Amino acid sequence: MEIKTPETILCYDPEQKYEGAIVPPIFQNSLFAFPDWEAIDNAFNARQENFIYSRGKNPTVDFAEKKLAKIAHADRAILFTSGMAAISAAVLYCVKPNSHIITVKNVYGPTSNFMAHYLKDKLNIETTFISGENVEDFRVNIRENTSLIYLESPASAMFNLQDLEAVAFLAKEKNIKTICDNTWATPLFQHPLDFGIDFEVHSVTKYLGGHSDLVAGVIMGKKQEMEALFSREYEWLGGKISPFEAWLLIRSLRTLPIRMQRHQENAMKVAQFLEQQPQIAQVRYPGLRSFPQYELGKKQMTGYSGLLSFQLKTNDIEKVKTFYNTLKVFHKGVSWGGFESLVYAPAISYLKELSPEQFANMGISMGDIRISIGLENAEDLIADLQQALPKAQFPPQS
Ligand SMILES: *Cc1c(COP(=O)(O)O)cnc(C)c1O
Repeated sequence: MEIKTPETILCYDPEQKYEGAIVPPIFQNSLFAFPDWEAIDNAFNARQENFIYSRGKNPTVDFAEKKLAKIAHADRAILFTSGMAAISAAVLYCVKPNSHIITVKNVYGPTSNFMAHYLKDKLNIETTFISGENVEDFRVNIRENTSLIYLESPASAMFNLQDLEAVAFLAKEKNIKTICDNTWATPLFQHPLDFGIDFEVHSVTKYLGGHSDLVAGVIMGKKQEMEALFSREYEWLGGKISPFEAWLLIRSLRTLPIRMQRHQENAMKVAQFLEQQPQIAQVRYPGLRSFPQYELGKKQMTGYSGLLSFQLKTNDIEKVKTFYNTLKVFHKGVSWGGFESLVYAPAISYLKELSPEQFANMGISMGDIRISIGLENAEDLIADLQQALPKAQFPPQS
């Protein structure tokens, strides 16, 4: 794997010296002042190019957006206050009342709820959830009023992939907009826009932030559409990122390539270790040769990140709990993509919202464990799993 780095490391606009500061300043401003009437008047003539008011454009935010757009091969990036602020804005841009959305079953939970419940209740939009593993699946579900195909590849929990190029081609034929949540692969390892997808969205909170100290989101795409989105969903819904969080993100992007390289190496070692363990039924990681869509993954991604899941052979919730609680190096919490390794069990939250039947319908079991592999030494992570796995075994070992 080769990672090209300059965009992520470049310092501020070389024309701007800022006393030689190697780290650009934070423009913690709500507004920008002008010398006179004419100057403000001129600025308003090109509202999307000028710094007037920070719900629109802010220099620190602008710098982060330009870096992201370069990495993603996008004309433009717009940062939002969270992944969900970006996703809801991008979806609203693409749909209209009484239209229809096609998305995948394992799409991120809040995205699924936003479509299936909020858009249904407010705008009478129907959403069809499909497995999405082959393009025929999309074709047969297209209706006359389908306005959006929303992808997430790899998708949450099971990491199923969709063929981005084939789906984008099909959608263009039918004049349907496409969005791809690219959070898992990051803009380094997968370029949905190059395959013809209209918009790429991310939870910046995950790898792009990478330090578990910020919450943000981004939409990236072509110039004309991003301009339209800016003046409507961005400025009117107002989900802007703060200059400080944009500045933290600029900090994060400097190390994105080396972090991703390490996440990938570590995750591969851990996944290969897990595959060999007698207590484990299945490991789900797109980088493994045993992954059902390994070939498709290789075709459309140039690398793999550090989030994976596995299924313990036991469905006994007490054993799963004991295994979970025996882990020491893995922190126990939600989210992912940070420097620290995390372990989470879908059963913890899903069982509060879903019946056991619904839970099983999603392809998830009691013994499912999700781990986010951080930047630690892989051997320490493996040793931690090794000491905890016997707890998930029958008969129990002390
Ligand atoms: C976390 C996540 C989101 C939501 O992002 P927030 O920053 O938490 O709003 C969206 N998509 C995926 C795949 C995620 O994991």
